[in-house]
Amino acid sequence: MSAPPQDTRLGASIAEVLFSAEAIASKVSQMGAALAAHYEGKRPLVVGILNGCFPFIADLVRAMDIELEVDFMSVSSYGAGTKSTGVVRFIKDLEEPIEGRHVLLVEDIIDTGLTLRYLTEALYTRKPASIEVCALLDKQQARTQNIEVQWRGFVCPDAFVVGYGLDYAGRYRNLPYVGVLDPSVYTKG
Ligand code: 5GP
Repeated sequence: MSAPPQDTRLGASIAEVLFSAEAIASKVSQMGAALAAHYEGKRPLVVGILNGCFPFIADLVRAMDIELEVDFMSVSSYGAGTKSTGVVRFIKDLEEPIEGRHVLLVEDIIDTGLTLRYLTEALYTRKPASIEVCALLDKQQARTQNIEVQWRGFVCPDAFVVGYGLDYAGRYRNLPYVGVLDPSVYTKG
């Protein structure tokens, strides 16, 4: 953990940096190497869960020096607050069938686990060879669902975090690190 870079425009809204850009880069390159070894010869379909996954999946697949394909899905929790509602809406499906494929789901953060449970249940009906889950951040304390996360970057404290793809009301996704928002941002709107 370190002090936020208050001298940047966006950094001024961050109370605490939890995972620096350097720590994330080093973790993602380790994860990519381990995933490449695991999926060598299997040509996995790496599926990013939009929107928050975009920096993570871009860095992760570039750290996987094997043949693979990339696709995206989009689901959304109802509501615009800072807590999961448990109700998930399907917005964008995969482009191709996944029967017989090795699927790696890439998530920015797992909180209650409801989104992933919903997604994996829906995808298993399409008869993939395997489905594994890779998340940069895991809020283990907030978990209500019994789901398996085979690949995780960091265990994240049970606070609302932003940056490296994660937003608050659509903002802060472009921060290069992950941090906790200053509570004054919630009150300003
Ligand atoms: P779950 O269904 O596991 O409760 O929630 C997963 C989704 O909730 C994530 O993909 C993310 O969109 C959102 N989420 C959960 N915790 C946080 C957080 O601390 N910050 C942000 N920005 N989004 C979060």
